[in-house]
Amino acid sequence: MSNNHFSRRTFLQSSLAALALPHTVLANEHKTNQPEYFETNTLAPATKPIILTTWEPNVPANKAAAAVLERGGRALDAIEKGVRVTEADPKDTSVGYGGLPDRDGKVTLDASIMDEFGNCGSVAALEHIMHPISVARRVMEKTQHVMLAGDGALAFALKEGFKRENLLTPYAKSEWKNWLKEESKKKKLEPPHIGKSNHDTIGMLALDTHGNLSGACSTSGWAFKLHGRVGDSPIIGAGLYVDNEVGAATSSGLGELVIKVVGSFLVTEFMRNGKTPQQACELAVERIARKQPDYKELQVGFLALGKNGDIGAFSLTKGFSYALYRNGEHTTHEAASFVA
Ligand code: ASP
Repeated sequence: MSNNHFSRRTFLQSSLAALALPHTVLANEHKTNQPEYFETNTLAPATKPIILTTWEPNVPANKAAAAVLERGGRALDAIEKGVRVTEADPKDTSVGYGGLPDRDGKVTLDASIMDEFGNCGSVAALEHIMHPISVARRVMEKTQHVMLAGDGALAFALKEGFKRENLLTPYAKSEWKNWLKEESKKKKLEPPHIGKSNHDTIGMLALDTHGNLSGACSTSGWAFKLHGRVGDSPIIGAGLYVDNEVGAATSSGLGELVIKVVGSFLVTEFMRNGKTPQQACELAVERIARKQPDYKELQVGFLALGKNGDIGAFSLTKGFSYALYRNGEHTTHEAASFVA
């Protein structure tokens, strides 16, 4: 069998033989009788523009981005505009203003952005700035660097005219206080996604009417993390990657797992090697599962958008959703998962 027709059954059988993976790994194999054993994309053929974004509650972000694209705007402008909607929403406790703080009570934000030319910018552990995605874009466009972190990122943002603000909402503060009370009873920090399913990191991919791709990712990261912890979202190749020749990918979930496999680059590279966006997401999730013994307790989700408009979505465990703008319609979907 040629590499391009590498089947999931073959992949899983050889993995199982080599690694003696538990039986649950095969759960998805029974969902379809397709020869490739991958989830089938049953959506109508796509017309540009297309926007694919992590988590169902991000439809308003997609609407703001779609308005830019429907006017013939650039994917880069659309994704920045879209992500800013979620960053400014105090009800979203995983992104921007209203994000849950670290264990010291500080809201520290991570964000990255990448355009059709392969230009990219990011900020990590940025405090006091409501729109880290716009600071990331400024890093990309106004400096010779890709990534600024911590106090340096804040100093750069202030110099660029961004306003210093208190991002800790009363709700997020009370959640932190409650967590502090419970903390002494806990043995270890609870990873993101366990017990919550409605919204998280925003990762947005867009294909504009000119056929160009861009992507953006923004988060407040793992709630109550150690101060200084940086996740996958601002790391180019981990939380986000755009290759305008083949496609783009983004992730949400436990960033440490994504960083270890350079997840979004991995997904994009699978597409470069001939996999569909769906196959690429599934192979990246399987790569994580093979390396992580407790994968059934954890969550990572990938989204992929191909240059031809095909999409992919897949997660480690159930509950990963996405918002899609395609053929002029806004819809939401739950992704298929590795552990059924
Ligand atoms: N991926 C993000 C991080 O690890 C968190 C998330 O998506 O929930 O920082």
